[in-house]
Amino acid sequence: MNQSTMASQESQTISLKVLMDKENNKVVMVEADSDFVDILFSFLTMPMGTIVRLISNQPEPDIIGSITTLYKQVEKLQEQFLQTPDFKSMLLDPRNNRSETQCRRLELNINDTKPKYYICSNWNSCRRSYNSQYSTCKNVRCNCGNMMDKEICFEIEDGGVFVCGMTKFMVTDDLQVEPMSPATSLTLLHKLGIKDMSSLQETTLSIGSEEALRLLKVSLFSKSVFTDALLVNFGLKSPKQEK
Ligand SMILES: [Zn+2]
Repeated sequence: MNQSTMASQESQTISLKVLMDKENNKVVMVEADSDFVDILFSFLTMPMGTIVRLISNQPEPDIIGSITTLYKQVEKLQEQFLQTPDFKSMLLDPRNNRSETQCRRLELNINDTKPKYYICSNWNSCRRSYNSQYSTCKNVRCNCGNMMDKEICFEIEDGGVFVCGMTKFMVTDDLQVEPMSPATSLTLLHKLGIKDMSSLQETTLSIGSEEALRLLKVSLFSKSVFTDALLVNFGLKSPKQEK
């Protein structure tokens, strides 16, 4: 792993209790706090351009189907072929301000896109006179006639992100998410066809941004997300021959 690029986020980790089936070298389920479930749910808020960008910007970049090629083509495209030059950033770095603002509260935020808001230079007075709002795009004309080109930030509030704070969850290898209770654990084990409890072993893994990014990538095509994304990484399983 490239130490310099990930250094700022490297210290941020969350721990995950993992129930493994030692016999079959598979993750059965993980026990997670709302912090981790919020990270999984945040994958759904990401535009496709953001997913491709994050996965291509890793120290060891990956290719997702043909969508990475499409992304690279837009990257190379000369601006004269676009309606306006800023459409390039709209495609390569698409914005979703509402969820980006929400995702800044994540314990571990793999999406480095910061939500941006713009106001005009005399916003304080024109907010009163013209009832002007802020804009999520730069250089939109304000009600007063000036361009909204001054960037502002909002404070991040504390508190939960998507799910309620105190709940613990069970998450299966194919990302079924259930609030934890003895009954749901047993039902899940039964559904997964686990009969021999002696082959089960609990282990705790520490998830940093590198692992979270792997989870995102693997969740796009795998039905055994934790097994494929984490076990090899933590040396708990020998690497599969890929490609
Ligand atoms: Zn204004």
